[in-house]
Amino acid sequence: MKITDVKFFMVKGKHWPFTFVKIFTDQGIIGFGEATNFPGNEMVLGSLEQMRPLLIGEDPFAVEMIWQKLYRHFYYLGIAGVVITAISGIEIALWDIIGKKLGVPVYNLFGGKCFPKIKLYANGWFMNDDFRYEPDYFAKVASSTVKKGYRALKFDPFVDTSSKDYFWNFPLNRSVNVSGERENQALAIMEAVREAVGDKIEIAIDLHGRFDVPTAIRLCEKFKKYNPIFIEEPIPPENVDAMAKVARESGSPICSGERIFTRHGFRELFEKQAAEVINPDVVRTGGLSETKKIASIAETYYTPITPHNPNAAVGTMASAQVATTCPNFLILELFTFDMVLSNKLVKEPLIIENGYLIFPDKPGLGIELKEEVSD
Ligand code: MG
Repeated sequence: MKITDVKFFMVKGKHWPFTFVKIFTDQGIIGFGEATNFPGNEMVLGSLEQMRPLLIGEDPFAVEMIWQKLYRHFYYLGIAGVVITAISGIEIALWDIIGKKLGVPVYNLFGGKCFPKIKLYANGWFMNDDFRYEPDYFAKVASSTVKKGYRALKFDPFVDTSSKDYFWNFPLNRSVNVSGERENQALAIMEAVREAVGDKIEIAIDLHGRFDVPTAIRLCEKFKKYNPIFIEEPIPPENVDAMAKVARESGSPICSGERIFTRHGFRELFEKQAAEVINPDVVRTGGLSETKKIASIAETYYTPITPHNPNAAVGTMASAQVATTCPNFLILELFTFDMVLSNKLVKEPLIIENGYLIFPDKPGLGIELKEEVSD
């Protein structure tokens, strides 16, 4: 079998666009992949365009060789971010082709299912048109999300999505005043959400790498009473020693990984025990086999993996396909606000029941983009 063509394109989402890859073969089998990156810059499309000529004529079964070829060819351009996201989208589409050719779901190419269905945590559940940065708003929407069947929620209690540049509107020095209004509001929102959903619902907190070390440690201490399953990126991810210090002193499990790329990026994190939970993104860290490799190293440190997934239906299904083969899989992220759009893009919608993603058990990824979306 040979690759005959590669197409890629963006689809506008509610808050960021999704990027898809479609690989054609001389046997008529078509593979789908996703290469979404935040904030969905067209640089990923440019990178895919550069990779396209290196793929034409290759055997799609030669996944490892193709991965190494792309990785080494584009290494000097900076393997993190744009380049590795493009490689990830291609790699996912190759596994889709292989699964379809062999007539087996992708999870059976990676060791089979450890979990019959995939536990999800909802994210973005608060990013609605009537958003208010108030405890009663968060409590109300958290309750209604739980009523939809989700048993776990993630959110950033410091994020006021109604303000412009809401991700970055913090002091440059990465500190918040102990008695500051913003910190008190974040804690009040946390309190309101925990009270609204009760003790049986799992809560994860994402701090988006916003704080300095002393602020992060102090905040993590304050969040401890709400029993988070993890606190994600309380500080930026670049300095692994600093993350390890926060992990040692914070009193809650620390999660890092969405901005760490390939097994090489994760090595230091494991060696220094800088995170008790890791969240690599399947469509950004190198694809399915790279995620499996990272998860296997994590297993040797008894570290659970919770794939980061702000992706559309194809990326979500790809994440689930590999996640179920990892014995140390914990829970998968799902952005609820783009579920309707996501399902409009694919031939058969994602099946979500009581907070779990159900496998369609079809060959390949088990999900295909509609012709009118991908042609
Ligand atoms: Mg995050």
